[in-house]
Amino acid sequence: MYKNLSNCFLLMLLLGVAPSAYTATIDESIRFITSSSEYVEIRNSDLVLLDLRYATTNNFTGQNLYGNFDHAFLHKEAADKLARAASNLHAVQPDYRLVIFDALRPRSVQYQLWNVVKDTGKQKYVANPKGGSIHNFGFAVDLSIVDGKGKELDMGTPFDDFTDLAQPRLEKKYVSLGKLTQQQLQNRLLLRKVMQDAGFIQLPIEWWHFDALSRVEVKKNYSIVE
Ligand SMILES: [Zn+2]
Repeated sequence: MYKNLSNCFLLMLLLGVAPSAYTATIDESIRFITSSSEYVEIRNSDLVLLDLRYATTNNFTGQNLYGNFDHAFLHKEAADKLARAASNLHAVQPDYRLVIFDALRPRSVQYQLWNVVKDTGKQKYVANPKGGSIHNFGFAVDLSIVDGKGKELDMGTPFDDFTDLAQPRLEKKYVSLGKLTQQQLQNRLLLRKVMQDAGFIQLPIEWWHFDALSRVEVKKNYSIVE
C-alpha cells in the first residue's frame, strides 16, 4: 500500500504533475456553512443592513463572486460580538445602522478573489488562500455605517478603496494634509469605537475591516471553511 503510494508520487514527479490541494466549489461551501451549527446567519434588522458587494458586480473585481448566494454568515462567537456592536451604535445614534459588505468568505471564493489580484498592486490587500484570510474562518467582517435614510456615512474613501487614504494607521497624516476631514475621521472613529467596545480588532490598513479575535488565536483554534 505505502509502496504503491510512494510509487504513485514518484510517477507524478517524473511526469511533472504536482498533487494539488482540494478546492471546494461554492455550492459545496454553502452546503457546509448552512448545515453547520458553528455559523450564524446575519440578517437585515432594525440594527443591521446587508449590502453584500461580492454577491453583486458592485465591487472592485466587477464580478459576482458568490453566485446567487447573497447571505451573510459569521462564526457564532463573531456574530455575538457583531450584535453587541450594533446595539452599541444604536445606543449612541438610534437612527444609524451597521451596513455589512462581506463576512464569512469560504476559501473557494478567496481563490477567485486571489486570481483577480495576483501579480497586481492589489495583491497585498488580499490574503493568499493557502494560509487563508480571517474571513475564511468566519471571524472577519467588512462594514460601515448608514444613517437614518440608508445613506453611507462619508469615511473619506469608499469600501475596498485600496489607497493609503483608506488606512487607519495613516489617518493623522492625512488629516494634517487636509485630505481627510474632521467629519470623515469622526465617522471612522464612531465605527471603530462601537466595534472595539464589542471586542473587535481594527485592521490597520482598511477602515472597513475588523477581526473578532486576534489572527493568531483564530488560526490556532479554528478551521478554514473550504
Ligand atoms: Zn475584510
